[in-house]
Amino acid sequence: MKISSLFGKGKTVFSFEVFPPKNTTPIETIYSTLDELKELSPDFISVTYGARGTSADTTTCDIASYIQNKLGITSAAHLTCVYSTKELVLTRLAQLKERNVENILALRGDINPEMPRLHDFEYASDLTRFIKENGDFHVSGACYPECHIEAVDMVEDIHNLKLKVEAGAEHLMSQLFFDNDAFYSFYEKARIAGINVPIEAGIMPVVNAKQIQRMVSMCGASLPAKFAKTMQRYENNPEALRDAGIAYAVDQIVDLISNGVEGIHLYTMNNPYVAKKISDSIKSML
Ligand code: FAD
Repeated sequence: MKISSLFGKGKTVFSFEVFPPKNTTPIETIYSTLDELKELSPDFISVTYGARGTSADTTTCDIASYIQNKLGITSAAHLTCVYSTKELVLTRLAQLKERNVENILALRGDINPEMPRLHDFEYASDLTRFIKENGDFHVSGACYPECHIEAVDMVEDIHNLKLKVEAGAEHLMSQLFFDNDAFYSFYEKARIAGINVPIEAGIMPVVNAKQIQRMVSMCGASLPAKFAKTMQRYENNPEALRDAGIAYAVDQIVDLISNGVEGIHLYTMNNPYVAKKISDSIKSML
């Protein structure tokens, strides 16, 4: 099923993100995680992609295929382009089609200053257009409620986001955020700019102290005082910190649903326990 057909049905879409296991770990380890996530009946599950994938490495495609064909849940494969050739993207499209995966999250990928860039694609919008021209896929895009870290300001970032939608992105998934007001403000600006595709809010439950610093330094999400105080209070108590992180995410989601958000994209961090706790708390509200 194409992701676009999940929206506009009077229900908040609830989706998950998982990542492939490390190279040193067998791919099967993710399958038991996915079996547990299936029980939570998400509308779709997306699978992240390593920025420097090679054609022989079909991990993301294989996991997306497991979700789609073994579990019977709509899946989406992430695909980055900054270190990719057109040829590699065509190979990926063929691999996904072969596996019956119809949805792609088209991304530029992060730039590593130490790696020479390829220039087949400059931006995610170039990849989006290329996918649309070369297959029958639903294409999603990423968006940034607190502005992409490289953009000069929100006006520029939203202008560029509109180009991505015009190139064919039919749905957007947001970067994680802890301040719902940042999301509402971004959402309003996007609508004013004429971006009318569904926008899912990306929610990351923070369940350990290491995760906080890593996430914030990587994506620049701001930390509201309420969030920072909770994390500080429980930083030396792992169980309490996990429960507080889950409660904070639930609180965010309840507020988002009450404000009519079209979808919640939960960054599960491959942790079915946390996903279940959150899902159980909010499923009657979707
Ligand atoms: P783009 O949309 O290309 O934007 C990148 C920057 O370029 C922005 O500052 C934008 O304003 C600017 N820009 C865009 N178009 C133009 C233009 N035409 N002219 C001038 N400037 C322009 N990374 C991975 O490696 N693997 C993953 O699986 C992955 N999954 C993700 C999932 C989500 C939901 C999100 C939010 C991010 C994910 N990322 C992933 C991270 C992502 O690759 C980085 O955030 C990357 O830096 C930007 O990717 P993008 O697709 O948003 O880029």
